[in-house]
Amino acid sequence: MTNQKRTRIVIVGGGFGGVYTAMALERLLKKDPGVERGLITKENYLVFQPLLPEVISGTIGILDTITPIRRLCPNTNLYTRAVESIDLRNKIVTTSSGFRPRPYQLEYDHLVIAVGSITNLAGQRGLAEHALPFKYLGDALVLRNHVIHALEEADIESDAEFRRALLTFVVAGGGFSGVEAVAELNDLVRAVARSFRRINTAEIQVVLLHSGPLILPELPEDLARFAQQRLQRRGVDIRLNTCLAGATGESALLEGGGNIPTKTLVSTVPGAPNPLVASLPCKKERGRIVVNEYLEVPDYPGVWAVGDCASVVDQKTGQPCPPTAQHATRQAACLAKNLVATLRGEPKHPFAFQALGKFAGLGHRSAVAEVFGVKLSGFMAWLLWRSVYLIKMPGFDRKVRVAMDWFLDLFLPPDIVQLKTEKTAGFGREHFEPCEVIFRQGDRGDRLYIVVDGEVEMVTEEPGIGEQVLARLGPGDCFGEMAVVNDKPRMATARSATSVNLLTVDRSGFHALFAYHPPLRQWFQQLIAQRLHAVSAGQKTEPGLFVVAQDHLKKLHEYLSRILSGSDHVQLIVDRRSGDRRQRSEKVAVERRQYERRSPDADAKVRSRGYTYVGRP
Ligand SMILES: Cc1cc2nc3c(=O)[nH]c(=O)nc-3n(C[C@H](O)[C@H](O)[C@H](O)COP(=O)(O)OP(=O)(O)OC[C@H]3O[C@@H](n4cnc5c(N)ncnc54)[C@H](O)[C@@H]3O)c2cc1C
Repeated sequence: MTNQKRTRIVIVGGGFGGVYTAMALERLLKKDPGVERGLITKENYLVFQPLLPEVISGTIGILDTITPIRRLCPNTNLYTRAVESIDLRNKIVTTSSGFRPRPYQLEYDHLVIAVGSITNLAGQRGLAEHALPFKYLGDALVLRNHVIHALEEADIESDAEFRRALLTFVVAGGGFSGVEAVAELNDLVRAVARSFRRINTAEIQVVLLHSGPLILPELPEDLARFAQQRLQRRGVDIRLNTCLAGATGESALLEGGGNIPTKTLVSTVPGAPNPLVASLPCKKERGRIVVNEYLEVPDYPGVWAVGDCASVVDQKTGQPCPPTAQHATRQAACLAKNLVATLRGEPKHPFAFQALGKFAGLGHRSAVAEVFGVKLSGFMAWLLWRSVYLIKMPGFDRKVRVAMDWFLDLFLPPDIVQLKTEKTAGFGREHFEPCEVIFRQGDRGDRLYIVVDGEVEMVTEEPGIGEQVLARLGPGDCFGEMAVVNDKPRMATARSATSVNLLTVDRSGFHALFAYHPPLRQWFQQLIAQRLHAVSAGQKTEPGLFVVAQDHLKKLHEYLSRILSGSDHVQLIVDRRSGDRRQRSEKVAVERRQYERRSPDADAKVRSRGYTYVGRP
């Protein structure tokens, strides 16, 4: 068969590295019938990431930053699938399944790996659950929708503290993408807030967290300082030498103990190695595939790597290339030439490239730029920045669309449409720090919770009785099912007793499981019956009021024991402190435990002073 004689080139990844390699191969090989080219990628479009921040503010339409790959390389077979594994020894790439659960396998003679990096928020507590990443087109869309949603909620919120959290927007990371994201986000919220009748722009707080003493450390100091001052003048609160330590549903946690109450936290952490790359047996440097000066992977003939997933040493500077689109596209052109040279038995050329410059957009027609060593800032830098990206944007139709977007943006107000993109049923993850309320008694039952790790307390608040702890739940336990099943308000408050990670199933997802899986329904019905029984039994004995007595005042102690023995809601706590400390406070203290205000730390402190909480954590 003629097919068997053809050379098969397979490219994995449809970003700058992969698509520009495919485009260069099309130019060099034209319609060469002896070479078959295939590109496997998760999406059928190329995202022009440098313009992604403008999707947040709506300066550019959502679809205008992406170009269909089929139009850019019409003579390359496109496989819109995720690659699940690569067998370098047998030269086979296996993709995920599509509509049918059937994977696809492709054999290759030459393989180009261009899968970039991924966003990994798992390193810090609560970030994966509550921070919004910013790398893909979907991230920009989600962030924009989330911001408009927060403004919609703030407009009708009367609780001053919660309203402040809704109107506080935090971006972590003062590098290029963090600065560009915060600039566009700041422009968006301040511009669209005018359309909300009950929001005053003075209430809005946009915060940028940066670990170093000056933002944009990749730029010369004077440009970075200009950018910093420009953002501050536009209302961005820049917190230098401040690191994000984690997140909860209610706040951004800072290293050193502080926190910023917010419902919007954007994390622009540096890219982490793609798991597909991690699974390959070839040599790696900081998770990136080591290649030689021709971009070949040593020890694996016919395997090449390019872009953010490759560790490429620039022969001009002798330094590893930074993960930028500029470098990925130049490497792609060099790789394609070397691959064709290999097919034709011609000499290959080492990769050498001097970066042309660096830009950072600051929103509101301002930018900073360093081009061929010349520094520019303000409007001129912005004009140059836009011109360069318009030229670089692949596809004529996209150039026209982006130019039109920019033109219309000069005259039209920003869009405030919130697109509802959530699925009808779904799972989610949530993280809470100790003593945070997960839901309150009386809230609507919107989801079921499963404890992944940590502990949760279920408590009720009864007028005249106080707070009662109904149960303490640990890993594997679930809660919140009663209100979802019965479509009634929550009967108890759920509160994190420790730092806790939860899996959530939303109402419609839970109802679907409940409706179609009878054993599961039965199991939940039994659980609900057991819990209702425990609640009614517990209500008779659980105390709400505590009396603290000194144990050396024997008579008083005995007297108190006698009079309290008949009461269900009063509990005697014995003070076993000794020496001076006891002398100073020889009196009986009566207190109602205020769980809402007391943290486990405070509890530990009370215990260490000699008090004993009987039957309580
Ligand atoms: C917000 C932002 C702004 C930026 N601004 C600039 C800028 O102004 N200038 C600049 O030079 N650089 C900029 N960058 C960096 C630049 O975008 C990257 O360096 C560049 O995209 C790297 O190209 P790549 O092809 O290596 O990876 P990517 O562009 O990330 O592409 C990787 C591709 O591989 C696909 N893929 C991943 N895993 C699999 C799999 N298992 N199976 C199939 N396909 C897979 C992905 O879907 C994707 O299509 C920016 C980055 C971001 C996030």
